[in-house]
Order: sequence, then C-alpha cells, then structure tokens
Amino acid sequence: MKLRMKCPNCGFWNRIEVNKLFIEQETSEPKVKAYIPMYEPLKTETCKKCKSIIAEPRELIRIVKKIASIKK
Ligand SMILES: [Zn+2]
Repeated sequence: MKLRMKCPNCGFWNRIEVNKLFIEQETSEPKVKAYIPMYEPLKTETCKKCKSIIAEPRELIRIVKKIASIKK
C-alpha cells in the first residue's frame, strides 16, 4: 500500500510503498492485548525534493497525524 509521508527536513510530502503490520502490545488488563498498526517501508526512501532519507526498511512507521497519512 501507499503511504504519504512528510519529509522532516523540508516538509515535502512523499509517497512511499509500505507493508502494514500490527504490533502486539500489553495493556493494563492481563487478558487484553492491543494491536497497533505500523507501517514497514519496503526499501530505503529518500525525499524527492531534498534527497534526505525519510524511511528505511527496518524502521517501522507509526502513524501520527501531521507526519504521515494513508492514501486511500
Ligand atoms: Zn525533503
């Protein structure tokens, strides 16, 4: 899937290819687990405008408003 990600250096919005994953997380309730959606870049992505690296395959992206948005 495609993810729109804002370059932290220049603010340009880039489109990157990602896999969606769910990371299991413990909650205060022992029998309840939360799943947090995370996005794994398929390759190292650089900003099209300033060429700085914005995503790497081993660094999962957690969706935070203002930093990234999903392209539907
Ligand atoms: Zn940039």
